Amino acid sequence: MDAMLQDKLSCRRPQAVTAGLRAAETLCRQRRLQMTKNRWMVLESLLEADQPMRAYELLRQLEMRLGRRLSPPTVYRALDFLVEQGLVSRIATKSAFVPSTHADSDLPRVFFICDSCGLSAELENAKLEALLERDAASLGFHIGRRVIELQGTCASCLELETKPAAS
Ligand SMILES: [Zn+2]
Repeated sequence: MDAMLQDKLSCRRPQAVTAGLRAAETLCRQRRLQMTKNRWMVLESLLEADQPMRAYELLRQLEMRLGRRLSPPTVYRALDFLVEQGLVSRIATKSAFVPSTHADSDLPRVFFICDSCGLSAELENAKLEALLERDAASLGFHIGRRVIELQGTCASCLELETKPAAS
């Protein structure tokens, strides 16, 4: 399991991880908030993973990295902060977390989650915003959290499915 996890972690390019951390740091500075060591570590792990991670998976991974036990609230509190600031989104259907690539935007986030490999891709959709706002207004509803989760099959898995089995 850990070897598999390690393989998965090496998928995302280090530049993307660094860029994500830099962006988070800048955003926190602008909002006069502290990007503490714990928040940094949690975000870094999520940026390195190529699929949504559950809180306990994050905890286990951080413990492995640090070589010591961590108290779960350490991770939960860091996650709460990151979600509050829009740096991380919670995928409710998976009870898992993914870093957000559009932290400073209020547009709805649409996550496409692959049922086969767990990969998640995030897109922002301005057209959807207008539609949702109109519908919400007709109901007199105020939209709070704007995360839309779509489940299905990603392009790579679709390709694998349609390929004939190797003989
Ligand atoms: Zn897939």
